[in-house]
Amino acid sequence: MTRVFNFSAGPAALPEPVLRQAAEEMLDWHGSGMSVMEMSHRGKEFISIATEAEAALRRLLAVPANYKVLFMQGGAIAENAIVPMNLLRGKAGIDFVDTGEWSKKSIKEAKKYARVNVAASGEAGGYTAIPPRAEWKLDPDAAYVHICSNETIGGVQYHFTPDVGAVPLVADMSSDILSRPVDVAKYGLIYAGAQKNIGPAGLTIVIVRDDLLGSPHPALPSAFDYKTVADNESMYNTPPTYAIYIAGLVFQWLEQQGGLAAMERHNRAKAALLYDYLETTSFYKAPVAKDCRSWMNVPFKLADEAKDAAFLKGAEAAGMVQLKGHRSVGGMRASIYNAMPLDGVRALVAYMKDFEAKNG
Ligand SMILES: *Cc1c(COP(=O)(O)O)cnc(C)c1O
Repeated sequence: MTRVFNFSAGPAALPEPVLRQAAEEMLDWHGSGMSVMEMSHRGKEFISIATEAEAALRRLLAVPANYKVLFMQGGAIAENAIVPMNLLRGKAGIDFVDTGEWSKKSIKEAKKYARVNVAASGEAGGYTAIPPRAEWKLDPDAAYVHICSNETIGGVQYHFTPDVGAVPLVADMSSDILSRPVDVAKYGLIYAGAQKNIGPAGLTIVIVRDDLLGSPHPALPSAFDYKTVADNESMYNTPPTYAIYIAGLVFQWLEQQGGLAAMERHNRAKAALLYDYLETTSFYKAPVAKDCRSWMNVPFKLADEAKDAAFLKGAEAAGMVQLKGHRSVGGMRASIYNAMPLDGVRALVAYMKDFEAKNG
């Protein structure tokens, strides 16, 4: 068996010990005689899996008691509608900070439900930086302020938590949740699809302050009403049971690694290795402003695009896959989530140096 270094942006690499444990438990979970996939979501076995997964996530992020943790479906793209339908609460407007492709998608969807105010945008600068907080034109009467903490495609990431006063802050953390400690109390709501940094696709995590629940848009489907989901402990409808199980194993793995402070050190070290090298060469270019560079998704371009195909082919031959940039921006992108070992980034940098030496 050969495992590659998988730089996919999502669905992304998972920690190998998690995959091994899932394989071992595939046919018979803890003497139950069943695979987790075959269990009733209301049976004691699965309830224990879901309860422990939630407890571990709460420990990792130090989620305060007045926040609900919801296991939902539909991904972050569904949340682009589900969040406004739950959180408008009679208000007319939402503030957005536009930092790239995922912000733009959130804005477009929210316009179906609310008046949208783009309080700041990185568009004029080609989405290579986070607009400084001092320049945001917030509406004090907005229902909430929406940000994307890490733009998975453009590779810009917040390295600060913006203060938005009394208005709830909402963050799409799909691609950087659990990569570093977060002060949950500074947010009204955090959402994330699982398939970047948590587990398999199909699970969406929502962490929401409980006073924001309970006055949804009348047309909101019940299965997406946060209060209904919370009141039913994420079992109003059948949850994505296997994805929750794998996420729970990932949470356990994260705790064994030393939690999110350790993950931050690990992720900073990997990102520094790659960005420091990119600073030393003109063969490759890193477009993003230094203080906004993502530790999770590292976009870079070859100065000569004609060499892109050879670069990717050589990388694949060396066991490094999924380095092609998103189709909307081109170039390369190395996604280096929690599960990417330091050795994977070392191998990538060594390959990049070698490719430069042979083709520069
Ligand atoms: C991947 C991603 C999405 C889309 O998630 P889906 O699960 O496909 O809905 C949204 N926002 C961000 C920041 C992402 O990285």
